[in-house]
Formats: sequence, C-alpha cells, structure tokens
Amino acid sequence: MPPYDNQNIFAKILRGEIPCFKIFEDEHTLAFMDIMPRSPGHCLVIPKAEARNLLDCPPEALSRLIVNVQKIALAAKAALEADGITLQQFSESAGGQEVFHLHFHILPRHEGEGLQRHPAPRGDMSVLAAQAEKIRAALVGM
Ligand code: 5GP
Repeated sequence: MPPYDNQNIFAKILRGEIPCFKIFEDEHTLAFMDIMPRSPGHCLVIPKAEARNLLDCPPEALSRLIVNVQKIALAAKAALEADGITLQQFSESAGGQEVFHLHFHILPRHEGEGLQRHPAPRGDMSVLAAQAEKIRAALVGM
C-alpha cells in the first residue's frame, strides 16, 4: 500500500487550509459535511492521526474514531429526522476510495429514498451550513 500523503484534501481541511462545514472536533477526531452529499445530511468523520484508510489505521486511533462515528450518526439521524443510517468506508482505489485519509461516511436515510448516484452534484452551501448547524445542535447533551 502507498504511504500516507499529507497533501490529500482532508489533511488540508485538518490543517485549516481548506474550509469545511464543521460538525464536531475533539483532540483526535473531526466531523464535517460532505461537499457532494449522496443523501441529505451526508457527513464524514475522520481521525486527526495520519491514516490512509482502514487498513493502516492504528487500532487505538480506530477505537477512538468509531465511538465518535456512533455519536455523529445518532446526532445526524436525530437532526435529519432520518429512519436509519448507512455507514460507508472505502479502502484503496479498488475499494472505491478517492480521498486517501481515513474517513467514515454517515448517510442519513429515509424510508423508500435511495442514495444519489456517485458522483453527486455539489451541495447547496446554505443547505449544508444549515444541516451542520442542526447536527451540532443535536450533539449538545449527547
Ligand atoms: P471516498 O470515495 O474517498 O470514500 O469519498 C470521498 C468523499 O469526499 C466524497 O463523498 C466526496 O464528495 C468528498 N469530498 C471530496 N472533496 C471534498 C472537499 O473538498 N470537502 C468535503 N467536505 N468533502 C469532499
């Protein structure tokens, strides 16, 4: 597997070089809206640790991350009034990965509604901002 490349887009978001609609941040984790959402409220949870994907992530970092994945999933489900959540993680190009910093996709789902096909169109910035705000609000007290 190739080494971690710190010029990937999520590393730039972590360094603050590129903006994002932030949902949650702690010492080890960042969560933000996906810019090309495949369902309303589609968001991403990433570790601050350098990991290309699931396959090279140190188990301790992965353990911390998955706890926050659950927390954000619960908040996104509540904020979007969703019926369920689809969780996706792609590792390496053959696995469908395009951005090579480990991330989990959280996709709020409504009964009977499919996912947008990939690549989805760029989301409306004001909608993404409003959804991020709602998910942040749902996180309060969790
Ligand atoms: P992958 O196929 O690697 O699992 O998915 C990468 C995801 O990153 C895609 O869902 C894509 O929409 C999202 N993405 C790509 N570039 C950006 C960006 O600059 N900002 C944000 N917030 N998401 C991005």
